[in-house]
Amino acid sequence: MRLDDEAESQNVEDRRGGGFGGGGMRAGSIGVGTIIIALAASYFFGIDPSVILGGASQMQQQSPPPQSQAQQGRPPANDPLTVFTKKVLGNTERTWEHIFETDLHRRYAAPTLVMFSGATPTACGTGQTAMGPFYCPADHKVYIDLAFYDELRRRFGAGGDFAQAYVIAHEVGHHVQNLLGVAEKVDSARRRMNEAQANQLSVRMELQADCLAGVWAATAGKLNQQLLEPGDIEEGLKAAAAIGDDRLQRQSQGRVVPEAFTHGTSEQRVRWLRNGYTTGDLRKCDTFASRQP
Ligand SMILES: [Zn+2]
Repeated sequence: MRLDDEAESQNVEDRRGGGFGGGGMRAGSIGVGTIIIALAASYFFGIDPSVILGGASQMQQQSPPPQSQAQQGRPPANDPLTVFTKKVLGNTERTWEHIFETDLHRRYAAPTLVMFSGATPTACGTGQTAMGPFYCPADHKVYIDLAFYDELRRRFGAGGDFAQAYVIAHEVGHHVQNLLGVAEKVDSARRRMNEAQANQLSVRMELQADCLAGVWAATAGKLNQQLLEPGDIEEGLKAAAAIGDDRLQRQSQGRVVPEAFTHGTSEQRVRWLRNGYTTGDLRKCDTFASRQP
């Protein structure tokens, strides 16, 4: 990606090194690194954490030594990763403003992105590094510990700037769903369902966020023709494939349990991200319409 010309977002709250952190802890014999990975997978990737912790001994060898983000103090406010994140968020604001104006004839209200380390209060409960990046509909904020980018590259082999941008764009996609009322409808429908049905609805919701990330990339590439470089989209598709429920389950427990899917298979995630990117049309992101998403 070429972000030279992109202005940084002003809607960023930097809570890093705020002292609310719980870094450096150990739980039993399992390193905090393992727990972070397990929980990150459960929230961002959608696996029951116990499933992953069950394979902890094997994963532990690869886990990083426990480290305390909080003790490291506040990182410089303009380190490259921070600037990158602010610029990508800034781009999502301009791009979604454009899409809302031209396609929906309404105004886009941008979310706030909170950078934190360790743990932080949110309107959806206490947010933790362990959860991976997430969006809280109640306060319209995206929460991210930038250390997650490392995790994405190291553990899931999904590195690169566009893979990182896709993570942000996916969470912003959840914000768009919130603005369009999708999140509310899904939430109330989920309350009337059994767990397997609720999971299926959650898959459709996640695939739509992937599709919206694709619509963002397509539109952003049109508005700034320097932005995307050869290989960028492939990088995003590779990341989407790496975090499919089926692939993660096979890696962590050696088998696949479709009823437990909450984010969609690798194939589905790749397909919907690509669908959003090739059409550039958010109307083509109706993951709820078809019998099989
Ligand atoms: Zn999501």
